[in-house]
This record gives sequence, structure tokens and C-alpha cells, in this order.
Amino acid sequence: MKIGVPKEVAKGEARVALTPESATHIRKLGHECFIESGAGAAAGFEDAAYEAAGVTVIKTAAALYKAVDVVAKVRPPTETEVKRLRKGQILISFFYPAQNKKLMELAAKQGATIIAMDMVPRISRAQKMDALSSMANIAGYRAVIEAANNFDRFFTGQVTAAGKVPPAKVLVVGAGVAGLAAIGASVSLGAITYAFDVRPEVAEQIESMGANFVYLDFEDSNQDSASTGGYAAPQSEEFRQKQLEKFRELAPEMDIVITTALIPGRDAPKLWTEDMVKAMKRGSVIVDLAAERGGNCELTRPDEKIVTENGVTIIGYTDFPSRMASQSSSLYSNNIRHMLSDLTPNKDGQIVINMEDDVIRSATVTHEGEITFPPPPPKVK
Ligand code: NAD
Repeated sequence: MKIGVPKEVAKGEARVALTPESATHIRKLGHECFIESGAGAAAGFEDAAYEAAGVTVIKTAAALYKAVDVVAKVRPPTETEVKRLRKGQILISFFYPAQNKKLMELAAKQGATIIAMDMVPRISRAQKMDALSSMANIAGYRAVIEAANNFDRFFTGQVTAAGKVPPAKVLVVGAGVAGLAAIGASVSLGAITYAFDVRPEVAEQIESMGANFVYLDFEDSNQDSASTGGYAAPQSEEFRQKQLEKFRELAPEMDIVITTALIPGRDAPKLWTEDMVKAMKRGSVIVDLAAERGGNCELTRPDEKIVTENGVTIIGYTDFPSRMASQSSSLYSNNIRHMLSDLTPNKDGQIVINMEDDVIRSATVTHEGEITFPPPPPKVK
């Protein structure tokens, strides 16, 4: 089939859903690859590199949508992009169906099949297609780099002829995929790293990475995340108060705070309050990876970097993966090519939307004129 990748239309988005290398793999599945001219330029992939990998370059997005059977992209489509889809055409991209109901209805009306990369279930077999994780990993790493860039001191401690430098202290709140990547980057830069999560099962993982798990003097029956598929559940008010008390105690000591705490389907919990920001030292940095969902810090402004009156920098950027566009495009396009590989079971260039397959079923949110979201729970763990 003909697989085409348009240039991303979201302002500032530098990623692309296909790299020349992944095109080579996709072609081995029996497909032909097409790309809109200039689509990879911001991520460092020029038209000539695609052509050398056997990809046909098409001048405009409109012509590309007309020419192909499957469109692959990164960001959820705009209304204009959905309107371009025709009956039987397939779109593979991040989609966030719960937040994009109108677009989903429109796509179903057009008769297009939407495969949402964010709906790939978090089961072992699907890890190679788990674009949420591949992008969260980059965001966590980049958050530390961004913090270091805005911090006026070393992360690691040093004893030099010119004087002794204490190591920076970093607190990571939330130890999911992004948080663990942030912990890894922070430890490797030499900071004394602390981390907290409401899921106690991550304590061992945090400690094995050389960081310190922040324990609360509190037992909460809600804390068992096995009942929520490994995700965090909202905490009791009493637990939340204990958590805030602990953070208040840590705030004056921490140089860098990286917050990544999320609960599926909800606004980000407010965990770093205004008084905690005020208690931090001048020159400290907060990077709020939950900014897109309202932020974990009360003072975060999404997409902005601010400096408070007491000299604390708060970074609320929501485009961390796009800030490392070459790396994130490589990993994302690998996720896409693995998805295409599962959708092409016979490697004969024919796509099969097998609704009996847990992974494909979960990710498919519209098909044959119907909305197929939400999916039934996966049969296999
Ligand atoms: P996420 O982005 O939904 O949330 C980030 C982290 O914030 C989570 O660790 C969560 O426990 C934590 N959090 C929520 N409320 C908090 C609070 N009040 N205080 C502190 N921390 C809080 O998480 P994610 O990165 O998507 O990972 C969530 C789960 O999915 C984990 O169990 C992870 O191991 C699992 N996972 C599995 C796979 C796989 O098997 N393929 C892949 C990725 C993630």
C-alpha cells in the first residue's frame, strides 16, 4: 500500500513521522513510501535523504493525502486534515480520542480508519509501538538538560583548587517513564537525586538507579496501583496533606524540582504550591512536565518560562520531544514502522485491521464508519 507522511502543521512542531531509515524497513513490508517535501527538514532529514531511501517526495500536503492509502503523522490531526481523509483511508497518529470526540465523529463520518498511537495498550508485546513511552523518555531526559541550562551551578559536587562546590539536589516528583528518565539523567550528571511517587512499587527501581526514594510516614490503601493497571489513582485528602507536608520540608533544600505526576484522564494534581516556590532558594529551577495538563506546580504557565520575584525559574514548556526532533523522530518513526509491521501480517503490502488483535483493537478508534472507542479491556496482560 501507499504510506504517506505530511509535514506537521502544529506551530513549532519539528518532529516527523518517517525517517529515511524507517522507510527502508516499511518498504520491506511491501509498501511504498511518500513524504511531503520539507516534512523532515526541521528534524534534520532532507528530501534528498528520503529519495536515497526510495521514498517519493510530493510537493504539497493536499497531493500527498490524495496519493496515499495510509497517512502517518505525529500530532493529532486538525479538522482540515481530517476533512482530507476519504473512505477507507487510514490515519496513524497520536489522537487522544477522549479529548478529541468531534474529530473522531468527523473521521467516522468520512469513513476513515483512525489508529491512535496513544491508545496502544501498555502490554509487553506492544512495547515496540509504545510512542507514549518513547516520547516520555525523551521529555524526562530533556527536562533535566533544560534545568541544567537554567541553573547557574554544577550538578556534580567538586573539590577544586579554587574552592569546594556542593552537588546540586534534584527532586523528581512522579516516577513513570518520564520521571525515571529524568532520574537517570540527573544521577548521571552527578546531582544528589530524590524521587517520590504514589506507587510504592517504584521505590526499588528508584533506589537501584542511585536515587533516594522519599518515604512518607503514612499508609494508604489507595496506594495499590495494581487495581488501576499500574497507573496512579487519585489519593485521599489525608495522603495528599502528608505529601504536601513532606514537599514543604524539602522545598528550601532542593535546587531543581522536576514534576511529572499524572493521573490518566484527569487534570494534573497540584503538588508544588506557591508557598513551596517561595520557600525555594534564589537560582532554583522547576521544570513542570505536567504543564500541558494544567501543571503540577501552582505557578506554572504552559509553554512559558517565568522567573518569580524570589528568583526561581519555572519552565512549563510542552514541546520537550520536539526540542530533540531528530532523536524523537527516529524513535517515533520506529514505533510507526512496528505498528505497520503488525498491520501487515503477511509482509505483502496489504494492511489488515484485525479487530481480534488486542493491540490493533485498542488503538483503532474509528473503523468502517463507526466509532470504535473506547475499546474493551485487553484480554492479554
Ligand atoms: P503517567 O505519565 O501516567 O504518570 C507519571 C507518574 O506520576 C506515574 O508514575 C504516577 O504514579 C505518578 N503520580 C501520579 N500522581 C502522583 C502524585 N500525587 N504524586 C507523585 N506521583 C504521582 O505514567 P506513565 O509513565 O505513563 O507510567 C504509568 C504506568 O504505566 C507505570 O506503571 C509504568 O510502569 C507503566 N508502563 C508500562 C509499559 C509497558 O508495559 N509497556 C510502558 C510504559 C509504562
